[in-house]
Amino acid sequence: MKLSAPSRTATSVRAVTYVILGILVFVSAIAAVILDDFSFGQDFDKKAYDFLTRLEQPEPWAAESIILAIDEQTLSEYGGRTGIRAAIADGLDKIAGAHPRVVAVDVILAETGASESEDEKLEQAFSKTPHLVLDSYLLSADAWNNPLPRFRQYAAAVAQVHSDFDRYDGVSRDLPLATAAGHERRWALAFQAYLVANGVKDSEIEETPDELVPGGVHIPTADREGHTMRIRYTPLAMGGIPRISVAQLDSKPGLAAKFAGKAVFVGETAQAGGDNWTTPFSNGRTTPGVEMHANAYETLARRMFLVNASQTSVLLSCFALAMVAGFIYAFWSGWITNVGAAAVIIASQAIPAIAFSQSVVWPWLPDTLAAAFSLAASAAWRHLIVRRQLRKSEGEKDRYQRAMQFVTHEMRTPLTAIQGSSELISRYATTMPEAKRTQIAEMINAESKRLARMIETFLSVERLSAGQMELKQEKFPLADLVQRCAERARPIADRKRIEIEVEAIPAEELTGDRELMEYAVYNLLTNAVKYSPPETRVRVFGEDEKGDSVRLSIRDQGIGMDKKEVSRIFEKFYRTKRAEQSGEAGTGIGLSIVEQIVTQHGGSIQVESEPGKGSQFSLILRRSVS
Ligand code: ADP
Repeated sequence: MKLSAPSRTATSVRAVTYVILGILVFVSAIAAVILDDFSFGQDFDKKAYDFLTRLEQPEPWAAESIILAIDEQTLSEYGGRTGIRAAIADGLDKIAGAHPRVVAVDVILAETGASESEDEKLEQAFSKTPHLVLDSYLLSADAWNNPLPRFRQYAAAVAQVHSDFDRYDGVSRDLPLATAAGHERRWALAFQAYLVANGVKDSEIEETPDELVPGGVHIPTADREGHTMRIRYTPLAMGGIPRISVAQLDSKPGLAAKFAGKAVFVGETAQAGGDNWTTPFSNGRTTPGVEMHANAYETLARRMFLVNASQTSVLLSCFALAMVAGFIYAFWSGWITNVGAAAVIIASQAIPAIAFSQSVVWPWLPDTLAAAFSLAASAAWRHLIVRRQLRKSEGEKDRYQRAMQFVTHEMRTPLTAIQGSSELISRYATTMPEAKRTQIAEMINAESKRLARMIETFLSVERLSAGQMELKQEKFPLADLVQRCAERARPIADRKRIEIEVEAIPAEELTGDRELMEYAVYNLLTNAVKYSPPETRVRVFGEDEKGDSVRLSIRDQGIGMDKKEVSRIFEKFYRTKRAEQSGEAGTGIGLSIVEQIVTQHGGSIQVESEPGKGSQFSLILRRSVS
């Protein structure tokens, strides 16, 4: 088993955690958009649409349409539903003088009526109605149930009333402007009334997949096949489309003036008629079909069209929200993170509302989910990362304490020696032979140097990691440096009868701090000796690396390490169990200094190791550019 671990620096670890965060927020945004396509997502969007319809009601206006209503009173005066044709005829006769702009009759006239005289009467009334639009409905997939020819002959056009205002959840939000039966396609009653009112012929209507363009007016349509248009209902403040019933006209003929120049929608408003629908406004109450048509007419006449937000912009907004959420958790901390998270949620709610105020229907769910998912994912990411870091720093503290114990213990040895020796000199100053005194003085000198070196080592780690250590910039040959380190390490190696073999080293020059570099190489060499059994070999060899680098490797036949251990040896104060059991003294600090030195010189370290077989530490160093 060969194991290797590239040099891990704090920056690369941080980069990986940021990449993880990036993936998390990206997935959040994608999930939000995908979930919106499910039917429950559509349900949420529709409810939000209804809410916004109620929230952002347009300013009231003077309606361009009016309803000639067949209400309960009219029905009772005309002998019930059988008298409906006579009632319409009377109503039309009464308003004829007001010259309505168009008259759209939302009553099916496909069969012979209750009596010939009533049909006759209606025919008469139609003959005096110039801009008449009659209704038909879909009988089967390829046939229309048309008005009787006697009525149809007076109609400027025959429209259709579709019977699926409430395709989703019983709330009518939109209306297909076109419906096809076989080869024949007919316009919805409101749209046909609009065409007749504005003198637009069928041939003058342009069609694109997302628009109908009658006479230069662009009507955005959401559904490509049926050209579905969203109905903008009259705001509650308008109290609905004006309604005058035939019975009212009978008692107050003066009301006829209200029909002047209007689009008149004739139809049953009696609740019992069954032609009743729910709108986003109705809150439980129903609206008669004829009023739905009149509302659609108002939408057309006032060009109050609602456009669907493009899928790309919805997707982009999801990504933007998710990215902001990620940034907040990556770079902010404390209470400001909560403020940021709240701002993301508010933004996710504000986007559909602002869009609606600009007549754009923005689905509510994707942004809401993108915000919620990405905030939750980022918060979880931070929780886990912070916890890991906390655990790491606790582990470091623990190891630091153990190392301190070791260090203080180590320091006590030279200190005791210095103390004892200096005491000897002062006590026996006069009697002590010269040679003995020199020997003691040399020992004091050596021990204090050892102490100074120990202190220097500890200080240099701290200063290196704090970036306070200034690197010298000198040129030196790599081979020289290696030879010197090998010579210094040999006395220690000799004690264990370990042979240090220096093989070919490229004749390269390096630039940097020679002293620090020597420290690094010496440390690796002494480690190789320390963590190897007696009578083994330590090989030092160099190779040219790709680009402008050289590789210096130190290979031993020692105790080795497993993968997990290798991944931790550059942590401060970390020592492997095997190293502790080996009886070799150590602080676990040397390699962290080595790593600092090498990375600050623009190089890196690689480790390959196998328990019981040995280790190879390789330094990849930049050669000098001459
Ligand atoms: P120290 O040698 O003072 O313990 P280092 O920072 O130099 O500290 O090394 C950290 C740890 O890495 C060592 O304690 C040892 O467990 C492991 N180690 C370093 N070099 C070797 C090696 N050549 N073979 C096996 N283990 C090693």
